[in-house]
Amino acid sequence: MNLKGNIFDIQSFSVHDGPGCRTTVFFNGCPLQCRWCANPESWKIKSHIMFSELSCKYDKGCTACNDKCKNGGLTFDDSNKPILNWDICKTCTTFECAKSCYNNALKICSKEYSVEELMEIIKRDSNNWRSKGGVTFSGGEPLIHHEYLINILKECKKINIHTAIETSAYVSSDIFLNIMDYIDFAFIDLKHMDREKHKSQTGVYNDLIHQNIKLLKKCNWNGRLVIRVPVIGGFNDDDDNVYKIIDFMKENDLYEINLLPFHRLGESKWSQLGEIYDYNDKGDVDLSKLEEIQDKFLDNEIACYIGHETMF
Ligand code: SF4
Ligand code: SF4
Repeated sequence: MNLKGNIFDIQSFSVHDGPGCRTTVFFNGCPLQCRWCANPESWKIKSHIMFSELSCKYDKGCTACNDKCKNGGLTFDDSNKPILNWDICKTCTTFECAKSCYNNALKICSKEYSVEELMEIIKRDSNNWRSKGGVTFSGGEPLIHHEYLINILKECKKINIHTAIETSAYVSSDIFLNIMDYIDFAFIDLKHMDREKHKSQTGVYNDLIHQNIKLLKKCNWNGRLVIRVPVIGGFNDDDDNVYKIIDFMKENDLYEINLLPFHRLGESKWSQLGEIYDYNDKGDVDLSKLEEIQDKFLDNEIACYIGHETMF
């Protein structure tokens, strides 16, 4: 079987995605669509286009993409700036415009890698990890590529590579538990404990996520699990939600949580994808609020790390 994974980035030398120095593989495709997402280019599995006006050199006379689109997706304004018609570009499969852009202003998100190709990169990077590092599978949602991922994980385990995952756990329980058998360390997100509120900002209910975490704890999984919460001001930072997370964690013998403060680092990507960003004037959370939430977890004997403070 010639399996391919759709991947939008591979970062060598990551130090916040698990123990030690790691290679982090960002998969395309996500069943959630969080309205504050910092990586919206990861949502679709298949290749799609991104246009960065800031990187475009039209004002320096570049016309390389001028006659490349045969689909009617690309026009130019009076200053010769490219204008994409997103209704057309979101369904494009050829991306001739991007192939002509050497300034990376028009960019195809997602590249296919075979198991062999990805393993070659992982093995190459492993020379830099020293004793504690490994590979982390992130996204998007890595579990969408479960058939491909299980093959990668089996190859990693053959040569004793430490494996980590950053996941929403929003996948069927059989698939989830099968993959987790090969995972040493996991970050699993809880975005909101209320199922309707969860759906309102992520697009899906949280039942499957909770079910999978419970099953993982029941099956004597050998790895280490840190719950992760992206703290979004006005959405999930209230006492009621925080205490529901605490109850859920205690019920399931979970004693580590990482609070990730809301940020807008991915904001510009939304317009580059022809999408509208909802969080330009909401979602902020300050350090004193994060510390207040942290204290609640600590009072309940749950180790709580803010931002990149997770102890590996
Ligand atoms: S993404 Fe496709 S449709 Fe859009 S401008 Fe490029 S080639 Fe044309
Ligand atoms: S080829 Fe790239 S840099 Fe040049 S005008 Fe087109 S989008 Fe801009």
